[in-house]
Amino acid sequence: MSAPRGRRPPPDEPLGSVVRPVVDDSATAPACHRCADTDLTRVRVALPDGRPAVFAACAACETTAWYVVGGDGRALGPDGTPR
Ligand SMILES: [Zn+2]
Repeated sequence: MSAPRGRRPPPDEPLGSVVRPVVDDSATAPACHRCADTDLTRVRVALPDGRPAVFAACAACETTAWYVVGGDGRALGPDGTPR
């Protein structure tokens, strides 16, 4: 058995990175609902009821919230209810 060759990922491809989002969710979660800072870490998730949502963590005040994709922009708690 020899090691497989020629299947290395390109060096400029950040594998498994959560820092660079696959999609731009800044429209869904534009700013922290608590301090209005826009430096949020956004992760696409699904709510327990199946709705697509964005989990946002604020770098400034460490508040976290969920925002429904295509929703009304309200920040939701971890159980999907408005906070
Ligand atoms: Zn904040």
